[in-house]
Amino acid sequence: MTRIAIIGAGISGLAAASAIEDHARQSGLDLSTLVIEKQERVGGKIWSIKEDGYLCEWGPNGFLDSKPMTLDLCRHLQIEERLLRSDDNARKRYIYADKTLHRLPENGPSFLSSKLISWPGKLRLAGEVLVPKRTDSGDETLAEFGRRRLGKEALDRLISPMVSGIFAGNPETMSLKSCFPRIYELEQEYGGLLKAMVRLARKKRAEVKAGKAVASAAGPGGVLTSFVGGIQELTDAASSSLKGELMNGQQVERIEKIRRIRVASRCWSPD
Ligand SMILES: Cc1cc2nc3c(=O)[nH]c(=O)nc-3n(C[C@H](O)[C@H](O)[C@H](O)COP(=O)(O)OP(=O)(O)OC[C@H]3O[C@@H](n4cnc5c(N)ncnc54)[C@H](O)[C@@H]3O)c2cc1C
Repeated sequence: MTRIAIIGAGISGLAAASAIEDHARQSGLDLSTLVIEKQERVGGKIWSIKEDGYLCEWGPNGFLDSKPMTLDLCRHLQIEERLLRSDDNARKRYIYADKTLHRLPENGPSFLSSKLISWPGKLRLAGEVLVPKRTDSGDETLAEFGRRRLGKEALDRLISPMVSGIFAGNPETMSLKSCFPRIYELEQEYGGLLKAMVRLARKKRAEVKAGKAVASAAGPGGVLTSFVGGIQELTDAASSSLKGELMNGQQVERIEKIRRIRVASRCWSPD
């Protein structure tokens, strides 16, 4: 029998274990999985806390429904009917700066009238069309990309707060290619973000006119979606669907070349 060990019972580890088991079932492979998790609970960053009648999210509060793979996983786990799309009224975003809440500008006129970015900052942002495409194929951080294409003010006032909302991460250490591959591709394909926005909007209008696409309310970013009982329903369902073993409260200390995994108190090897 083939045995596969997966380190970490966050959504990545659980989804991987679920996909491996599913593939083995379909191909008739004799295979078993072992998920090793250092914490006592599964879910990793995903943790929905219910207290005094409130549902609070410790980490992520949802996912964008524009990525079919997450919805496929929900279908596979049979929790599709538990999905809860975010309310249109809650779709307004605000950024706190200069002791004021600024509504995140969503179109040209609201961007021009917004006090979130100064006039020099707005001009620098508009100058993005003049910034040449980067030719070095190596990775850069999100902060380097933001400063280079949009200017420091746009990085500090727009990109950093939005990234905190999505990843709770630091743009100075986040890889552009890994965290925002589509943004990297847009620069490579269209030469810049504003050029890409104009070209993609034109393409979408033509497709709608030709009946090939619908003027979707979801837009290119999709709709933030969770579950009736919180985002943890996803990791709970993924972990209960697993046929293999789940080892909680065990930290993997190292992986040795002989393909043996040493867990704090005992050893596990594939043979
Ligand atoms: C505050 C916050 C808000 C966020 N908001 C969103 C959002 O709204 N939408 C969205 O899509 N994303 C959001 N994210 C990002 C999202 O939460 C993560 O991308 C995702 O949960 C990562 O899942 P993962 O399984 O890759 O990693 P994790 O969830 O970190 O899971 C890794 C697991 O591995 C375990 N582990 C690590 N090392 C070992 C070891 N040596 N031995 C055994 N076990 C180990 C850890 O204990 C953990 O359980 C947010 C993140 C944060 C922090």
